[in-house]
Amino acid sequence: MAGSGKFFVGGNWKCNGTKDSLSKLVSDLNSATLEPDVDVVVAPPFVYIDQVKNSITDRIEISAQNSWVGKGGAFTGEISVEQLKDLGCKWVILGHSERRHIIGENDEFIGKKAAYALSEGLGVIACIGELLQEREAGKTFDVCFQQLKAFADAVSSWDNIVIAYEPVWVIGTGKVATPEQAQEVHAAVRDWLKKNFSVEVASKTRIIYGGSVNASNSAELAKKEDIDGFLVGGASLKGPEFATIINSVT
Ligand code: PGA
Repeated sequence: MAGSGKFFVGGNWKCNGTKDSLSKLVSDLNSATLEPDVDVVVAPPFVYIDQVKNSITDRIEISAQNSWVGKGGAFTGEISVEQLKDLGCKWVILGHSERRHIIGENDEFIGKKAAYALSEGLGVIACIGELLQEREAGKTFDVCFQQLKAFADAVSSWDNIVIAYEPVWVIGTGKVATPEQAQEVHAAVRDWLKKNFSVEVASKTRIIYGGSVNASNSAELAKKEDIDGFLVGGASLKGPEFATIINSVT
């Protein structure tokens, strides 16, 4: 890793779990031995945040998987940043490809959400990544930089942002970008931060990788210079495997 912050591993539980299954997952994580020098975050579904926060070790921080774009009020079905903070969340995942491509969120909306969450003191896990057809058309960097710019335009400080590069074609598919493919984009993102902001922002912002990360590929990926952690979906639902991924930086 080249970022100057700690290795950062997030578990994105997506729309999975029940009270019972998440209680078992939390107890597996509570009893796992975790590398002390790694920031660990889990993102339960909204309805289980309270249960998880109240039972998980303080060593692991809680993230939401989404947040409303502004102050709460008459927005049926939405959850506000204030409510997330009330439950003890420290982070929110924004711009995930499932929200971009299934729900239809665009860069402008995602940028506004990021600006609001940051202004209220939540950390943002800012997701970017290209579709398979965009990669095949040679547009990977264009797409990632455009998504990055939408976050950059909306925020005044990079202090509380972690960038997650998640190529859409590897999410939940079992396909993994090779460590070299991931490193290439991570290095380009760091370079973009250097050119558009500063050497300091580029070196201190953590750029994490996501998409079919598991216990068998995480150690190789973690060796790459510009990979500062992971955002893990499926494999974060298995406590022992998630612990192995967290510990893969050693
Ligand atoms: P996956 O999901 O690890 O199941 O591919 C990663 C993500 O979507 O954050």
